[in-house]
Amino acid sequence: MIDKAIPYGRQNITEEDIEAVVETLKSDYLTQGPKIAEFERTFAGYVGAKYAVAVNNATVGLHLATRTLGVKPGDKVIVTPMTFAASANCIRYCGGEVVFCDIDSDTYLMDIRKLKLLLGSYPKGTFKGLVPVDFAGYPHDMEEFRKIADEYGLWILEDACHAPGGYFVDSKGVKQRCGNGVFSDVAVFSFHPVKHIATGEGGMVTTNDKILYEKLILLRTHGITRNPLYLYENHGGWYYEMQELGYNYRLTDFQAALGISQLKRADTGLERRQIIANRYDEAFRNIAGIKMPYRTGDMLHAFHLYVIQVKDRLGLYNYLRENKIYAQVHYVPVHLQPYYRELGSRLGDCPVAEEYYKHCLSLPMYPTLTDEEQEFVIQKVLEFV
Ligand SMILES: *Cc1c(COP(=O)(O)O)cnc(C)c1O
Repeated sequence: MIDKAIPYGRQNITEEDIEAVVETLKSDYLTQGPKIAEFERTFAGYVGAKYAVAVNNATVGLHLATRTLGVKPGDKVIVTPMTFAASANCIRYCGGEVVFCDIDSDTYLMDIRKLKLLLGSYPKGTFKGLVPVDFAGYPHDMEEFRKIADEYGLWILEDACHAPGGYFVDSKGVKQRCGNGVFSDVAVFSFHPVKHIATGEGGMVTTNDKILYEKLILLRTHGITRNPLYLYENHGGWYYEMQELGYNYRLTDFQAALGISQLKRADTGLERRQIIANRYDEAFRNIAGIKMPYRTGDMLHAFHLYVIQVKDRLGLYNYLRENKIYAQVHYVPVHLQPYYRELGSRLGDCPVAEEYYKHCLSLPMYPTLTDEEQEFVIQKVLEFV
């Protein structure tokens, strides 16, 4: 019998993590110190991007990205409705207009066929960019998205919050990790405790573009630079210039220390997620009332979430809660949120996402979920279904 509550996701903090934080707390720098650059370097190496910029959460990372990409009032940007609200809100922070493109019924990612239809039904130049989200950890074939983006002159802001370590295999047979900047212009990751790597609050923005990178760095710290190469004037060693309206979106050094320590276990965490996903797959494969996550061979699903679809989702959700299993729903489609309805979105705009929302449930998925706990979850799901 399992008597402790089982959440859908949770962090894993080890003694090494704690030591790394304590060591940084005792050092000279709590913020703006050497741990930031070290975290950025190791994270960029992990996902395979040239540049990484640490920020204090992914939401501000998305905002930095949209500012850096130059989103202006009235700019139209295409966003998936099956995501956390921040993926769309970052367009609104800059006054841009969000246009939702429905999802694929198997992958739950932005449906590339519908994207083509949407782009084709407006004059060229109508849209500025795309925000695809590697939903649940399922990697996009970003090469295909890049082709379309190039055809229409769009930038791609990849919300990779669910997918550190995930990859797809491109047309040349190369493994392309989510957010590596090869096909997307900018990507954003989150280090909220339910995500793969936890720093409390925290995020990372990655890119392969040096100009975008420098702008991200500038905007992260108030739009202020001290770099003599970029100054308009120079009054001496103390001199700095505020050249843009920027922000304080910095991560602290003790959070970066935690991130560096967590990153060392990222691959074993990902392996554990695969094992848990495989066990769920095995248990649900022949059950008529359960739709399992879709997978193909030429990719690695990062399994931030393990989502099933069932007929009576509310019933299953409540039944699991009675057994202290806290499954979750990801997500209420963003276009149906009152704020976006106020801006003109309606029920019926994205029928696939709306249908998916009626049936989806995210089961417990995190590396420290024990086999015994998982068997308990499986047993309760099967009992109900
Ligand atoms: C968690 C999440 C965010 C926001 O991350 P924070 O670090 O909490 O700001 C944005 N997009 C997606 C898809 C997420 O899952």
